[in-house]
Order: sequence, then C-alpha cells, then structure tokens
Amino acid sequence: AKTLRSGGACFYQTEMDASVRVRRRLAEDLRSALADGQLRLFYQPQVELATGRRTGFEALMRWQHPVRGFVPPAEFIPLAEESGLILTLGEWALRSACAAAAAEPRMGRVAVNLSPLQFLQPDLPQTIATILAETRLPPGRLELEITETILMQDQERAQEMLGQIKALGVQVAMDDFGTGYSSLGTLRAFTFDKIKLDRSFLREIGSNRQAMTILRAVLAIGQGLGVPVLAEGVETEEQRALLHAEGCAEAQGYLFGLPLPPEELGLRGSAAA
Ligand code: C2E
Ligand code: CA
Ligand code: CA
Ligand code: CA
Repeated sequence: AKTLRSGGACFYQTEMDASVRVRRRLAEDLRSALADGQLRLFYQPQVELATGRRTGFEALMRWQHPVRGFVPPAEFIPLAEESGLILTLGEWALRSACAAAAAEPRMGRVAVNLSPLQFLQPDLPQTIATILAETRLPPGRLELEITETILMQDQERAQEMLGQIKALGVQVAMDDFGTGYSSLGTLRAFTFDKIKLDRSFLREIGSNRQAMTILRAVLAIGQGLGVPVLAEGVETEEQRALLHAEGCAEAQGYLFGLPLPPEELGLRGSAAA
C-alpha cells in the first residue's frame, strides 16, 4: 500500500509504515542504550562432548529497553549494522568480554561475534591488539566468530585481515556453517580454528532423512581438515548422544546452559563486568 505525503507529513500510515517507524525509533533509542547501561553481555557455555568438560563461553548481546522490555539481537543487531553503530557496540562487546574473561580465569575461552562491518575496518587488528593489552587477556583465550558472507566478497582482503588477526594469537571460528551460499568454498579458501554448525542442521535431523547424511559429511570434512566442529542449538539428550556418537567435538545449546549474565554463571569469585 502507498503512503500519501505532503510536505513530509503523512496523512495515513499502513502497517508497513508503522513498522518502519518502529524500527527508526528503535535505531534512535539504540544510540543512547549503551551509555544508559541498557546493553549487557550474557554468556552461554560451550562443552566438549567426549568429556562433558566446559571449554568456554560465547558472549551474546542483550538489550533491556526501558519501555519495550527485552529486544532480541535478531532485531537490533541489523539496525546497528545499518547505522554503523555496530562499530561502537562491537568494540564495547569485545572489550567487556575480554575484561570479564581476564577477571575470571575459570571462564576459559571467550567467543565474541564479529559483525561484517567490523571485519571491513582496516584498523580491526589494532583494535583487538589494544583491547588484549588493556585487559591483559592472553590472546589464546579469545575466539572471534565470523560468518562467511563477509569473507567471500573480497577473498584477498579477507585473507589479509584473517592473517593479521591470527598473528595476534587469537582463535577464529566460522559461524553459522551451512547457512550461506558457499560454506564449502569458504572452508577451501580460509583456515579456521573451529567450525560452528548452524542449529538448523540439528532441527531437521528428526524429520529430514538427508539431514543426517549431510551432518555426517560435515563432520567428516572437519575431521579431514583437522578443524573441530561445534554443533549449535543442542536442546535434547538425544541430540547430544547422536552428535557424540558421530564424532562431533563440541556443542552449545540450552541442554548445557542458557546465555546468562556473568554473575549467574556459577563461577567462584566472579568479578566479571
Ligand atoms: P549466533 O551467533 O548464531 O548465536 C547463537 C544464537 O542461538 C543465540 O541467539 C543463542 O541464544 C541461541 N541459542 C543458543 N542455544 C540455543 C538452543 O539450544 N536453541 C535455540 N533455539 N537457540 C539457541 P541470540 O542471543 O538471540 O543472538 C542471535 C544472533 O544475534 C546471534 O546468532 C548473532 O548473529 C547476533 N549477535 C548476538 N550478540 C552479538 C554481538 O555481540 N555482536 C554481533 N555482531 N552479533 C551478535
Ligand atoms: Ca555466534
Ligand atoms: Ca551461530
Ligand atoms: Ca546466526
């Protein structure tokens, strides 16, 4: 439907216009959210399937809006990406996750999501190096999660950037494996420390006969490349047992723990911010 405008004033609005306005308003609110203390990082455990041992946590952003309540990242991360605000939010997330992990050695490794826009910043390696130095987190305890979309657009540049990040001693994981257009191409072109299998794979295993075959093939590829595969979205004991039987190295999901604020992770003496 159309909106009639006259001198910038809307005479009537369709539902679509309303959602555009809501998004615009949210994007504006997001600008002050960080300064107002409405953003937090929650942490979700990752476990080694063979031993059940916790290896680390993924940091996930949470926005508690004063009026709208909890706004999911799927709603506000794209807004931040569009406006460029993700650069500020992403750097904040990196700094707080590194500070939290440095303050609590029992956290183990901390995984932080990198947005495509962050990955395009030529000074990203310098930013990471500065944060590692400031927080005194040993680089090997930081893992950056990157999706394939950004890597395949300009492979040469992405190689260069990944090389610089890895030279800092930081781990790099390929996030959402299997959801993009060229997951296998990405694996061929780049070296990762971990492959994170998207949770859509697990969701379909009960209902879709091909899903199991594809899961096995992906695990075989990981094994062949010497890159451990972490399965995302593990919710049931059946899924855990199956992944373990098929040789999957690590897992993450509600079965092992929800994303929680640092004070609720049950780590002794947690002074994490
Ligand atoms: P992601 O990186 O794929 O993160 C995993 C998502 O799966 C998280 O959603 C997590 O809460 C959810 N999850 C974990 N276990 C289960 C499970 O067993 N079942 C189900 N159904 N879901 C599970 P969340 O926290 O809502 O984040 C959504 C997305 O937002 C993330 O997907 C990531 O793409 C983005 N995101 C979150 N935090 C950040 C951040 O700090 N920076 C950037 N750039 N993106 C972020
Ligand atoms: Ca992730
Ligand atoms: Ca993921
Ligand atoms: Ca995702």
